[in-house]
Amino acid sequence: MAIDLSKYIFIDQHAHLLLKRQQELDAIGFRKCLSESRSISFLQDHFPQSLFYQDLLSQCGELWGVEGEESLIEYRVKAQPTDYIREMLDDVSIGGLIIDDGFSSDEMIEIGEFAQITGRPVWRACRIESVLESTIKQVNSFPELASLFIESLAHQGRIKTVALKTIAAYRGGLDLSLVTKEQAINDFDQAKSTLMQSQHPRITRRPLYDYLLLQAFDFAQANNLPVQIHSGIGDDDQDLRSSNPLCMREILRAQRFSSTNFVFLHCYPYVAEAAHLASLYPHVYFDLSLALTQNSPIAKEMILTALSGAPASKLLAGTDGHSVPESYWYGALTWKRALAAALDTLIESNFLTIKQAEDTASSILFANAKELYGLEGLF
Ligand SMILES: [Zn+2]
Repeated sequence: MAIDLSKYIFIDQHAHLLLKRQQELDAIGFRKCLSESRSISFLQDHFPQSLFYQDLLSQCGELWGVEGEESLIEYRVKAQPTDYIREMLDDVSIGGLIIDDGFSSDEMIEIGEFAQITGRPVWRACRIESVLESTIKQVNSFPELASLFIESLAHQGRIKTVALKTIAAYRGGLDLSLVTKEQAINDFDQAKSTLMQSQHPRITRRPLYDYLLLQAFDFAQANNLPVQIHSGIGDDDQDLRSSNPLCMREILRAQRFSSTNFVFLHCYPYVAEAAHLASLYPHVYFDLSLALTQNSPIAKEMILTALSGAPASKLLAGTDGHSVPESYWYGALTWKRALAAALDTLIESNFLTIKQAEDTASSILFANAKELYGLEGLF
């Protein structure tokens, strides 16, 4: 008997905001939202042949009764925006989302509006680098920065913060070093003047950054906030080689952070590595968000790799959805299809009973996130 997960609640533990005028996109604009490539010629000539995109179009076509990209683009322009978004989220039972609102925020809707439009519980993952870049502009000394930085991390807006998030993989890699306060103090003047030369300051690997990142991990531990870490695939702004979760070994092994919960995001192509870390350290978790979406033909194999390496209580589900509702929908759809197929295989080969498989699905699709982030207001 094939296991059916279509009605299981899906907590999206890693996603971003929607674009402001996402329904007006033309085909290239739509493709751009679903690709990590910024090359127009790639989007024009090659992207349509990506297996996941072809699958997304055909699944979406089935949902809306349209056929092909052109008809979908025409259909979504005419659809009522809120209904269109909510129907997609309902179709895959997305019951709540943790949103990293630190990405391209000028073009995106605001997080309160996102909660309103989607009509479901939304929580926030606070991006550490965005806080650091905005606080450094406002201060003139290291002590001022150190206190304003922590104050800003603690600031609660209308949407509750349930996690911190770091994009260190994009800012020099995950091989962070345990820098001293003195090194950070000595770096302050130069770091500030380098950042102030740009209109859009962008902190990259240097002692001050590493020091404050580690301070943020301490803050997270004291406030019971898991730290999400971008790892594995993303756009070409990062060096994929240094976004391997294994690069974090020194931090993961440090006694100082032994009670900070870390959640590696995406992880592809380092799924086995992330699973191994999650099987070694009680405070390490991982998700397969963008990894599954962009590689959906092998999603089942990735889930089997993850579940072979680590207990199901360490694996979380996310979509990395952003910009267009189709990305959240396809992410959750891919998760459910692939998880069902992986669990069927495990039942057939006698690794799990049906009951155990159903419990595994509940853990991964919502219970793990609910517990790890202390999500309230859910069923
Ligand atoms: Zn993301």
